[in-house]
Amino acid sequence: MTRTDPCTLDIVVPCFNEEAVIEQTHQRLTAVAQGMAAVQATLIYVDDGSRDGTFLKLRAIAARDSRVRIVALSRNFGHQYALTAGLDASTGDAVAVIDADLQDPPEVIAHMVARWREGADVVYGVRATRRGESAFKRGTAHLFYRLLQTLGNREIPADVGDFRLLDRRVVDAMRTLPERDRFLRGLVVWVGFRHEGVAYERQPRAAGQTKFPFGRMLSFALDGIFSFSTVPLRLVSYFGFFVSALSMAGIVYAFYIKLFTVGVVPGWAAQWIGTLFLGGVQLLSLGVIGEYVGRIYGEVKSRPLYVVKERIGFERQA
Ligand code: UDP
Ligand code: MG
Repeated sequence: MTRTDPCTLDIVVPCFNEEAVIEQTHQRLTAVAQGMAAVQATLIYVDDGSRDGTFLKLRAIAARDSRVRIVALSRNFGHQYALTAGLDASTGDAVAVIDADLQDPPEVIAHMVARWREGADVVYGVRATRRGESAFKRGTAHLFYRLLQTLGNREIPADVGDFRLLDRRVVDAMRTLPERDRFLRGLVVWVGFRHEGVAYERQPRAAGQTKFPFGRMLSFALDGIFSFSTVPLRLVSYFGFFVSALSMAGIVYAFYIKLFTVGVVPGWAAQWIGTLFLGGVQLLSLGVIGEYVGRIYGEVKSRPLYVVKERIGFERQA
């Protein structure tokens, strides 16, 4: 299949405290939007409850540029929810998703559109290199993607973030998934369709600071694993079997001591070790189960994923 007709493209940009870079980002995106033949592009900025001047800057941009839409959320909901809000607001034949900090070069979107025209339904950016990121971030990211593939979905590609282009059908399919754990790079694999990657060089942040310090990164990684895998529960069961087998051996040993030795009070070390070990294993297992129970609790409340405070520019839509 090839898509040759003129088409509409929405570019969704989640922004949280990006006042330092947003003007520059808008310029680069505008250049890309203007440079594509037969593509009518709309920029959808999602203000994820920024506490700096991001919203004011976005509003000024929208006032002078009819290509711009703004969805302002009522508070900071987080990157994946901001993306969800952007996808929900989109109407284009294709939707590109890109970070506001220019780490993902906007020019790659033109390549993505070309691949989409050739028939790909999802074109994701593969980070060939990550410039300007610490060895620690690169190392932990590497570990995370490998763990995710082993425990979760083997088809979630490694070194792929949220920088991608989605066909309308894919966006619509993703919007039917009601879950709160919005690990979008997993959900997009789940819905299927034809996926292709384009390699690009991940750049250093153009300005401003990362909104993902280590704690938030870790929590995001755990979300990814727990929402796409029940392997941790399975591991707990295996571990349970293993420990039970060990306990059986311990019981046999205790009987042996009781029946065939006299006088001494042996075994206090074994007792201690057993108690501590079992206590540790049980707490760990409870913790893993708790992760899933907590997620069930979140789903059961079925609150909306985000709250919109203001929408700007959408009245311009034909
Ligand atoms: N972001 C967001 N809400 C948040 C945190 C981040 O919308 O709560 C946006 C942020 O403005 C940026 C993108 O998500 O456009 C990626 O964030 P960042 O660049 O800080 O993450 P990193 O690239 O360091 O992993
Ligand atoms: Mg970034």
